Amino acid sequence: MNSVTVRVPAKVNLQLAVGPLRDDGYHDLVNVFHAVSIFDEVTATAETGMTVRVEGESADQVPEDGDNLAIRAASALAGHAGRSYGVNLVIRKAIPVAGGMAGGSADAAAALVACNELWGLGLPLEDLMEIAADIGSDVPFALLGGTAVGTGRGERLTPLEVSGTFHWVFALAEGGLSTATVYAECDRLREAGGERVAWPRAAEPLLAALRAGDAEALGAALSNDLQPAAVMLRGSLARTLAAGREYGALGALVSGSGPTCAFLAGSAAHASELAASLKEADVARDVIIAHGPVPGPVPGPVPA
Ligand code: ATP
Repeated sequence: MNSVTVRVPAKVNLQLAVGPLRDDGYHDLVNVFHAVSIFDEVTATAETGMTVRVEGESADQVPEDGDNLAIRAASALAGHAGRSYGVNLVIRKAIPVAGGMAGGSADAAAALVACNELWGLGLPLEDLMEIAADIGSDVPFALLGGTAVGTGRGERLTPLEVSGTFHWVFALAEGGLSTATVYAECDRLREAGGERVAWPRAAEPLLAALRAGDAEALGAALSNDLQPAAVMLRGSLARTLAAGREYGALGALVSGSGPTCAFLAGSAAHASELAASLKEADVARDVIIAHGPVPGPVPGPVPA
């Protein structure tokens, strides 16, 4: 085999609870991840060196050198195997770059799965998860897919039971937001407000809504502690969120560190209507309909 293609989904955070700032500069999180049907595609082809090319959505904003998270993942896997493997990776991006949907982490996860297959390593998921956690805290979930709660920095994962399918509309913004800047702004706002930061916990109503497949209850339970910071840094998001609520979204929130906004709809038809209204209102660079949860990356023929 000299070429493997893997399709990998974006994520939205259904709950992102940010605990107090730790001594190591990270925060303890409770992060309910949900994989949705916006996919990047990564093709790994056998080659002597390690190279990457990026095509599609905002490709010019993604590094094509050793800083690319997919190349870092491939190098880490080769290191783990103790061999000097080579690969050429072609990434076709549909996940918005620096959009709070973990596109870079998704590409890293896809590269791990593709190279594991290409190089015939046959490593089990647990080994790939360990390598993934060293690359970034969102990478282990990108390998897993579905819906899961992450604790620690988000990397300790427990899959969650979910009934049915949820329908989403995503409003993409012009330009990205740096995750580090959004966390710093969150710390600044909390300090300025004299806020005593509680230990983060998974919200029981949210877990119950997922188990029951109850979109209305899920919409009411969505929460993101980074949202005030993202809105402070990008004032236009307040208008985007308000427009989605006004057009009947069951829930509206900033996805991760933003600036993408996520809106929950009651059905596929409701999602189409909501997307049309948001387009008409001109509150986003682009509007995408998706559903979740979807499975994580697997090698093999990419569905049409
Ligand atoms: P998260 O939701 O995990 O905070 P994000 O979705 O906001 O992340 P990404 O799209 O993952 O952000 O990109 C963050 C930065 O990482 C970008 O500015 C980009 O330069 C860099 N990067 C490195 N490799 C990749 C990649 N394969 N795809 C996208 N961005 C990458």
